[in-house]
Amino acid sequence: MSDAFRDSFNQFANKKQQILSRLADTHEERIINTLKNLEDEIIADLTRLTDGGVKLNTQLAIQLRPNLKTLIEQNFLKEADGIVSEYDEIVKEYQRFIKPLPIPEQFKTLTKPDLRVINQLKILSFSGFEDVGNRFLDTIANEVYQSSVTGRPFNEMVKNIRGQISGVYQRSNENAVNRLVDYIDKNRYSENAQIIAKVKNAREILHTKYASDILGNNMRRYAGQIAQDSLMQFDGQFTLYKGKEAGITKYQYVGTNITTTRDFCRRYVNRVFTEEEAREIWQGSWRGKSGTDPFVNRGGYRCRHSFILYDDDWFTEETNDNIEEQTKVNQKVRKDQSSFKKTGTEKKLLDSSFADIKNDANNTIVKAIALLPALKKYTTNRGKSFYNKFNDELSMRQYTDQQKFAEVYRHEYGHRIDDNFLRYLPENKRKQIISKLKKLGAIDNKEQGYIFENVRTTISNYASMKLLNDRRRIKKNFEDNKKKRFNILNEKPIDEEDFDKYLIGVLKDNPDFPLSKKELYNLLEFQGNFNRVEMLNLITKTDIHKGLDDHMDLFMDYVGAISQNKVGFGHTIEYYRDFSTISRKYGFAVTDGHTSEAFANFIALTTEAKYGQSYLKLMRYYAPETTEMFEQMIKEMENVL
Ligand SMILES: [Zn+2]
Ligand SMILES: [Zn+2]
Repeated sequence: MSDAFRDSFNQFANKKQQILSRLADTHEERIINTLKNLEDEIIADLTRLTDGGVKLNTQLAIQLRPNLKTLIEQNFLKEADGIVSEYDEIVKEYQRFIKPLPIPEQFKTLTKPDLRVINQLKILSFSGFEDVGNRFLDTIANEVYQSSVTGRPFNEMVKNIRGQISGVYQRSNENAVNRLVDYIDKNRYSENAQIIAKVKNAREILHTKYASDILGNNMRRYAGQIAQDSLMQFDGQFTLYKGKEAGITKYQYVGTNITTTRDFCRRYVNRVFTEEEAREIWQGSWRGKSGTDPFVNRGGYRCRHSFILYDDDWFTEETNDNIEEQTKVNQKVRKDQSSFKKTGTEKKLLDSSFADIKNDANNTIVKAIALLPALKKYTTNRGKSFYNKFNDELSMRQYTDQQKFAEVYRHEYGHRIDDNFLRYLPENKRKQIISKLKKLGAIDNKEQGYIFENVRTTISNYASMKLLNDRRRIKKNFEDNKKKRFNILNEKPIDEEDFDKYLIGVLKDNPDFPLSKKELYNLLEFQGNFNRVEMLNLITKTDIHKGLDDHMDLFMDYVGAISQNKVGFGHTIEYYRDFSTISRKYGFAVTDGHTSEAFANFIALTTEAKYGQSYLKLMRYYAPETTEMFEQMIKEMENVL
């Protein structure tokens, strides 16, 4: 008899362990990075406020404490807050496991989400980070105060503070030392023997360098440790709570054995205990022990073993059948979905339109689409294709040309990503990416001309200032070159040979492209005998394959939206007027319509494999700031997916 339940139980234990490991690693890394910032900011702040130590006296030293506190809050505690909010992943995995179980009536509470308890546990976890923050505020403030009393040289005080924050991993004015620290941080979890040896060597160098005057008890060490232990404690307490609430009496100690596993953990891993048995065993003593509460302390500091709920009644024929049934359903659902995680018509159209990226589960756009829920409404029409964010409706004109249909579908779906991506991100990630986008887009500042209230959740809006800058540049170049370019309009080459000469002349007279709508028509849309590919290569200074003009409409719409149709074409100027204004400067206004159209075309063009890169070059050439911003946006999206 196959033991479906046992398999799924083991899978749950493994999956949970994977999540714990991943979170523990990334959380420690995040905390360490934020401490590097904190260290630099504290030193910069102290240097500025004391004039390089000149003004430091006891009175100022006391006044500096609130500044230090703020810096610790803005760096360390802010990061801690983001970290704690990710503990939800553990709860989610637990729910996924428990849901299909045929839970008897008395255990029904196992499936309840318990938001209140989870929040309380999170608050408890956060307070652990606060304790570390407070302890270091005291240490650093005390260092500043003592220095002012004893007249300690400023450089020495700086050195002490750096040591208190980062120990031997402090920032140094020797680049070689910083490189060592970065190397260690990057490779600390490597499993490659050579790299492990190098990391060990780098650690020894740092320890020798600072050995005489640095204590081991620095903030980095505590913070790195608490980042891991707090996560494990949350998990242990959540498990115990769930067990108690449901009247489950047994817990299994799970996790993997690695070379650094404590003997204690090695002995007990996979064993099943009652709570009392566990508490009894944890009274003993062993190497690396940190406390006597099994659910809080586990094997000790940085131990990644954990408990899962265990009940003998689960291992029955009935559970087994139920799990087998559920597995079949899951497999069917998985088979019906692609990496876009959609079904039916939506899946079919996504697969055919985004054919070049559909199998790449790591592609940012694939992941962004997978993040969105199923489309609410798909319709077809005889007029214009559109996406309406208010009722989540995507409507397609029925083009007979398959390729035309695909590019328009990518465009409309690009709108859907633009309008919904931020809305469906978890709150902490949304905050993270928005603050980054504001910085990148230079739109957090009224003087830049930004109208704050109108930016909501449409991601392309954050590029509005970049659009304005590109539009101004395009307009200026256009006016500057008006006279010089007269002959583009009036002279036309007669044959292919003449065309080269003609084009060289055009380029010479027009060092600052872009060309106007009419000029572009003449060059790009004119179906003569000219070698259009060669011509495009010259204009874009790239190597473009034959066929680039296949998606020229999307590109024209892109530069049209940015330049308000000064160059390029697509949507009409009246169309753009119907949207709310996002930014205003240089006498220009950028509306939600402009940023959205540009973004939708950007997505449609760059998700096509054959010509995508060439179009990217063209986009960078005509609208460098907007294009760079969109490229950066995709990277930022990747960071939160
Ligand atoms: Zn352990
Ligand atoms: Zn559009």
